[in-house]
Amino acid sequence: MNFDFEHTVNQKIKISEDAKVSLFLKREDQLHAFVSGNKYRKLKYNLLEADKHGKKTILTFGGAYSNHIAAVASAGNILGFNTIGIIRGEELVSGVNNNPTLHFAKENGMQFKFVTRSAYRNKTDLAFINNLKEEFGDFHLVPEGGTNALAVKGCEEILRASDNVFDFICCPIGTGGTISGLINASVSSQKVLGFPALKGSFLHKDISRFVSRTNWELIENYHFGGYAKVDENLINFINKFKSKTKVLIDPIYTGKMLYGIYDLIDKNYFPEGSKILAIHTGGLQGIIGMNMHLKNKNMPLIQM
Ligand SMILES: *Cc1c(COP(=O)(O)O)cnc(C)c1O
Repeated sequence: MNFDFEHTVNQKIKISEDAKVSLFLKREDQLHAFVSGNKYRKLKYNLLEADKHGKKTILTFGGAYSNHIAAVASAGNILGFNTIGIIRGEELVSGVNNNPTLHFAKENGMQFKFVTRSAYRNKTDLAFINNLKEEFGDFHLVPEGGTNALAVKGCEEILRASDNVFDFICCPIGTGGTISGLINASVSSQKVLGFPALKGSFLHKDISRFVSRTNWELIENYHFGGYAKVDENLINFINKFKSKTKVLIDPIYTGKMLYGIYDLIDKNYFPEGSKILAIHTGGLQGIIGMNMHLKNKNMPLIQM
């Protein structure tokens, strides 16, 4: 991985015989085998910055199934950084090998520190960070989910000039870093639609910190009850999408966004003739963990 300026393909998705809009999927999931999708974009300038300052260790934060944790561990392994993951949930300390994401991160050399959920909430406090510096020595800190100004800069590289032909650019949202990059890289004739994967009213403010344009909107009714919450409709949609297009999508981000896009198409939200570009942000590593959870709940599994 040398962080060249890279572009992924826009794959045309056949919606139906009589569809009045066209839909393309930007295959950011194919950017890298392990540092997938938007996490590659978000890490790029952060890791170049760490390298510039001679930092040997990257420390970051995440939940037990986090795509960001998997991406940081893998990128660190490839590029020669030590990596430390501060993981939410003290009980996981004995369960690393039963958790596919943590197991993968460990195999890639990540060192973990498991903290309670209440301690995790203080992760941005100076005292908490200083304690980590005492424990681990000097490190380059990447925030949870990887969002900062350098991450936004990396996400601006998702779009290329030829994407200006699209009327709508759609992407899923966690912390808002990815959509911020897309907004900055869009042209004013385009509308950027964000589909939050979680409930919460903080996103408008978070995104506004990174962007100055106003050609964007949040579509807030496709989070399925909250972060990583799913139901049978969503799982069935993901399986149907896979069998029709051969494209696997994750249930936490891209699956919810595409469910929303299809629903909005049904409701004639998009004017006739609209060209829609949806970003497949990756995150496929999380499906194994999700399927373990679905199996426990006797729900249908995601077909891989
Ligand atoms: C982290 C992640 C997102 C959310 O990106 P933000 O920049 O935090 O909004 C979307 N999709 C996938 C697959 C992710 O892993």
